[in-house]
Amino acid sequence: MTAQPELTIYPARLVRTMDPARPTAEAVAVRGDRIRAIGSTEELKAYGPARIDDRYSEHVIFPGFVEAHTHIGSGAMWQFTYIGKIERTDPSGKRWPGCADIGEVITRLKEADAALDDPHAPLQAWGLDPIFFEGERLDRRHLDQVSTTRPIGITHQSGHVMTVNSAALAADGVTRDTHVPGVIKDADGEPTGELREPAAMGLIESAPSALALGKELRDPLMLRNFGADARNHGVTTLVDLGNTQLMTDGYPQWLHSQIDTDDFPARISVFHMGGGFGGGTDVPAAVRRLHELRAGNSDKLRFGHVKFILDGSNQGFTGRLQEPGYLPDDRKGIWVIPPEQFMDLFSGYHAGGLTVHAHCNGDEATELYLDTIEAALEAHPRWDHRHTVTHSQLSTAAQYRRMATLGVCANIFSNHIWAWGDQHHDIILGPDRASRMNAAATALRCGVPISLHCDTPITPLDPLATASHAAARLTPSGRVLGEHERISVEQALHAMTLGAAYMLKMDHEVGSIEAGKYADFAILGEDPLAADPVGLRDVPVHGSVCGGRHFPVS
Ligand SMILES: [Zn+2]
Repeated sequence: MTAQPELTIYPARLVRTMDPARPTAEAVAVRGDRIRAIGSTEELKAYGPARIDDRYSEHVIFPGFVEAHTHIGSGAMWQFTYIGKIERTDPSGKRWPGCADIGEVITRLKEADAALDDPHAPLQAWGLDPIFFEGERLDRRHLDQVSTTRPIGITHQSGHVMTVNSAALAADGVTRDTHVPGVIKDADGEPTGELREPAAMGLIESAPSALALGKELRDPLMLRNFGADARNHGVTTLVDLGNTQLMTDGYPQWLHSQIDTDDFPARISVFHMGGGFGGGTDVPAAVRRLHELRAGNSDKLRFGHVKFILDGSNQGFTGRLQEPGYLPDDRKGIWVIPPEQFMDLFSGYHAGGLTVHAHCNGDEATELYLDTIEAALEAHPRWDHRHTVTHSQLSTAAQYRRMATLGVCANIFSNHIWAWGDQHHDIILGPDRASRMNAAATALRCGVPISLHCDTPITPLDPLATASHAAARLTPSGRVLGEHERISVEQALHAMTLGAAYMLKMDHEVGSIEAGKYADFAILGEDPLAADPVGLRDVPVHGSVCGGRHFPVS
């Protein structure tokens, strides 16, 4: 018999478990990386010789949050200049105020330019969101005011578009004679500097898109930032939703070397990008490889799930919408994966026993996905697959009823209400459709398991804020967008803990404070269940505990 690790009892102001069978306790006892029991401090002494650790006696111990739609590359973004509309805080705690107009964008870029010594070093920035700017559109001439010598590459917030200066166009040989779809030209036939979608964006190597992180996916700093961001917001389980490197020799092993360490503060489930924005088409080989990788899963690093991207983004008018479509006209959006190819791609992973999360922003994309799942289930019945519609922004009540029947989960993009709710109302969808977006209450009424997400770097990683946006549905102008789609604070917090864990097939391990699960906690300053829907986003986070190890916010 080997000696058991010491039992440690953590008394707290409150232990809030998110387990309805035992919702609160005075203290939690931890042995090694697992929860031994909850109860009163006196009661917990019955589990053997124990040390009392008082460090959380003034805090609320809550389950570590689970975020089922994030991107590992978000940790690499902060080496570039942020020029978005929304104020953000980077993992080091530095605040980046939002840029309200093109003038402020240019000022921010001039500051970044002045800070670079080498006059030819590239300047890369991200977060530009032209939908907030009335009037003229930022193009190469604006960026030429910043520099005519160094290449400048600006990635838009959607990730689907970039704008570059004249020096970048010249360096990469993009001219009036370049005939690649997505290279936008002015009335005289000259490139404006705007490049749409991957084929055009990929032409720029002198100042590549900040999101073109394929090369940097092995950056240890990126992982440290990703982990720090999680710790700062009490998140202990993350996802990399769509990684294109898992078929590459050595890459999964590199991830293990970085994440299976005592100082990395979170678990990560890394999904294979099955199609759309990279990803191979040799499905049988990918299924075999994913089963091999899964056999090597560790406590903190998980492989075995698959991501697809079916359509574009609604605020870019590239999400695929059913009738009635967008507000301005009858534009249809784009398919990132041709519908006629999707059945073959999906059914291979489905029959291979893997769980698929598919990006569906528009309801036509949701419809295609549900039709495909239904056909795949008829050909190859499976129980408890937990296939998930991720984003699910315009999924209808009828589609949620189908999801319930088919055993499909929905991971809903509630942060859109807070970030772009007014634009959806005024410009993109109109008041009726905008009020039905991200319909978390409808999903729950239909019995669909849900989670909520941020899709960082698209919006900030902050589960308390994400839960608050689903409960309050307030837009930046203060309008309640869809009062009947608001959910309760408790439902929203469930979505950010057990709900997300369920669709990652990790709900037996994380997502609530129960004996036997990992000792993964968010350390909070107040009881989030006592907060109102708006105040929920201001509950202080003091750090996290992952597998019994402490990660205070520094
Ligand atoms: Zn995403």
